[in-house]
Amino acid sequence: MQCEKKKRDGKPCRAQARAGNKHCALHAEPGRAKELGRRGGHRRTVYRPEALKEFEAPKTAADVRDLLAESIIEVRAGKLDPKVANALGYLGTSLLRALETADFERQLDLLERRSIREEDMVFQSNDPASNP
Ligand SMILES: [Zn+2]
Repeated sequence: MQCEKKKRDGKPCRAQARAGNKHCALHAEPGRAKELGRRGGHRRTVYRPEALKEFEAPKTAADVRDLLAESIIEVRAGKLDPKVANALGYLGTSLLRALETADFERQLDLLERRSIREEDMVFQSNDPASNP
């Protein structure tokens, strides 16, 4: 059976009512949602951004490695919210991929320049003006 209460926006609560009750767990006990919200807020304040080590924006794979390694320690010590650490893991992976692509682009550019220079050299040695 569905909970009979309405949510704050006027829509019906879609939670399952407790067995033998007209209301869900949240609506059966007035103040329960507030209490849970307060507890969540308290839990978040345990994380202390000011206690985190300062980092510049990572520019190399080694920077990413150092940031992630430090984050592991900070999550373990309760300084960093695991949700933030999760986001860091995701962003770190994306950044490593971007760094890899940028490195490929740089190498490709170098190869292209070298091949243009070599073509120029072949052209010059075939030019009668430069070969008297
Ligand atoms: Zn409800």
